[in-house]
Amino acid sequence: MPPREEFPTEGLEGAPSNDIGWHFGTPMPNARGNIVCKLCGKVVKGGITRVKEHIAHKTDNVTPCPNVTGVIRESMMNVLKESNTKKIDKKKEKR
Ligand SMILES: [Zn+2]
Repeated sequence: MPPREEFPTEGLEGAPSNDIGWHFGTPMPNARGNIVCKLCGKVVKGGITRVKEHIAHKTDNVTPCPNVTGVIRESMMNVLKESNTKKIDKKKEKR
């Protein structure tokens, strides 16, 4: 069996929001905005976007995840780029 390196493309059932980041993080019940990385167990502060940056090794705000595979890391980086593009598009529409 090859190692499972598929990247989820849909939101996780039962997650707080329809965000693929919840495949990699579990919200801490008593600390709002703190999320535990499912891959390395590190607590990421600041919300699900920080978890995605942690997974993607986008290290502006967070330390990179030591346990993520290359496929997932690259896929998550693409997700972050796409969400940035969408935000820019929305701003254009309002103007
Ligand atoms: Zn991690």
